[in-house]
Amino acid sequence: MDLHKQAANLIKTKSNIVAFTGAGISVESGIPDFRSSGGLWERFDPNEYAEYSAFLKWPEKFWTMHSELAELVSSAEPNPAHQALATLESMGKLTTIITQNIDFLHQRAGNSRVLELHGTGETATCLSCQKQYERITVEKMLKSVIVPRCPDCNGLIKPNVVLFSELPPQDVFEEAKRALLGADLVIIIGSSLSVYPAAALPSLVIYTKTPVIIVNEEPTSLDYYADVVINGKAGEIFPLIIKAMSEL
Ligand code: NAD
Repeated sequence: MDLHKQAANLIKTKSNIVAFTGAGISVESGIPDFRSSGGLWERFDPNEYAEYSAFLKWPEKFWTMHSELAELVSSAEPNPAHQALATLESMGKLTTIITQNIDFLHQRAGNSRVLELHGTGETATCLSCQKQYERITVEKMLKSVIVPRCPDCNGLIKPNVVLFSELPPQDVFEEAKRALLGADLVIIIGSSLSVYPAAALPSLVIYTKTPVIIVNEEPTSLDYYADVVINGKAGEIFPLIIKAMSEL
């Protein structure tokens, strides 16, 4: 049986599917991932551009990278893989998405329960007075400065994304863990599974023996435990899986 059909067969009988997504699911929306060739880390060393103490020391480096990413995110649209996850929710199959992404594309595709392990680029905080800012407001500031500062107290403004050396929000992490432990199928999409602690979450399936489907361009460390592994582009694979479901 072909792999799309095998995945469709697994999905067909399930009603509490949890998807775990990484940067790879948004590549076909025009947002590069970090580690693939052409990815952001080829040009920006994460220790200088995306680490918390580096942000405090060289905020201009972070903002140079983030502004570039933010521009891509603001013009990006959900692709067929995001849309397929929304379809699975509307069919009463998928209940939760746990994402490492900060691009808001799952919500824009129509999924209602999206747990953002690495925060969101939609809002930002002044690190001095804690005032919250909308992305649009910060984008306006970025038209005239490289490093946006709080108009009230001149503090550094930081998007509400989790940088290296920062921990994912504890409540979101715990909720994600509970969702995975209760899942009847886990679908992992577009993650190298190498950014910790987020990547530890899908590894729970090793102990729970929950069925797993992995869709990724390259092999991952969990392939051995997966029931179905499909290597390729998520935006091409998911429409084929949805089509195979309609033919069962
Ligand atoms: P990663 O960059 O480590 O891995 C991405 C994986 O996706 C790779 O294994 C790659 O082979 C695969 N991939 C690339 N294109 C694909 C496609 N079209 N279809 C299927 N698979 C594809 O990403 P990660 O595991 O999410 O970790 C990187 C960190 O970067 C995360 O913490 C995330 O927060 C952040 N990030 C987010 C965005 C975003 O919000 N869109 C973009 C870049 C990085």
